[in-house]
Amino acid sequence: MTDEFSIIKKYFDWRYQARFPAFDAITLGIGDDAAVLDMPSDKQLVVCVDTLIEGVHFPEDTSPHAIAHKALSVNLSDLAAMGADPAWFTLALTLPEVDEAWLQEFSNGLKALSNQQAIYLVGGDTTKGKLSITIQAMGWLDPTNVMKRSGANHGDYIYISGTVGDAAAGLAVLQQRLYLNPYDTSECVSRLEYPQARLSLSRLIRGSASACIDVSDGLVADLSHILNASQMGAKINVSQIPLSPVLKKLHNQQKALEYALTGGDDYELLFTVKPADALLLEELVQKRNMPITAIGIVDKNVKGIEFDEDVALGRDGYRHF
Ligand code: ADP
Ligand code: MG
Repeated sequence: MTDEFSIIKKYFDWRYQARFPAFDAITLGIGDDAAVLDMPSDKQLVVCVDTLIEGVHFPEDTSPHAIAHKALSVNLSDLAAMGADPAWFTLALTLPEVDEAWLQEFSNGLKALSNQQAIYLVGGDTTKGKLSITIQAMGWLDPTNVMKRSGANHGDYIYISGTVGDAAAGLAVLQQRLYLNPYDTSECVSRLEYPQARLSLSRLIRGSASACIDVSDGLVADLSHILNASQMGAKINVSQIPLSPVLKKLHNQQKALEYALTGGDDYELLFTVKPADALLLEELVQKRNMPITAIGIVDKNVKGIEFDEDVALGRDGYRHF
């Protein structure tokens, strides 16, 4: 039972528990030459794609469950950053061999997140080669809610969700550049392996945020993307950068700050809000127990990013080339 069609049938053509409008909009899913999908007339289609390659985007001993979670999660995070709701995804999977135990775990991880976030697998491609996972996600966007990188204005407050730097610390532990106790290790490694896309937060802020990006390359690098696209600069209060308890108690606080500012893979949302909308938004978000922190202000008279304390940036975010 190793032919391509039985693999697809067994591991990728599953039944969904939660069926939302995007499920009913699948006219034709897995099994034909292509999927046929209906769009609601008042929504725009948002499309993104991300590839994870073994040894580049995840270490070789990463569990298939975590790989699947991350491959889908990074795409969900892109949809969240745009202000879109998840609808469908496709999966291009390249495998060195047919390993049923691997496929079962991978499929379980994918199915769990797919069910949880109501994003439906509508097709894909299965090939042989070095392990590589490409997921293309599609979402629905109310055009009035789009959050572009280019929308930041002079005087807007800059917010970040959750805490940053934990995934970078997790990677440093796996690569034996950092030593933590077992509890702290699992906290950081799970931030690295099981990123949680901020979809609920996106739904709360998308009506009022002026610009938004998800932090995949590092806070400084991703803030720079917003600033460049908006032709603005920013002032950042270093003491306001939210650190997790694990990073707060690192002996080397300079290192902790470096992880927070330049480490990638956090998948938090970094967004700007005009002052008149900020108070209401903060109240709304706090009522739902979603952590956001104001870390600075957009300033057209600043070139790039100005920090209120000296910071040593080890590297300027993650570079792919
Ligand atoms: P074709 O040869 O027409 O490109 P395939 O034989 O590659 O079609 O795929 C058959 C069907 O299975 C298609 O509907 C395709 O979308 C789906 N499919 C293939 N691989 C995957 C996968 N890894 N996950 C989900 N669906 C898949
Ligand atoms: Mg075909």
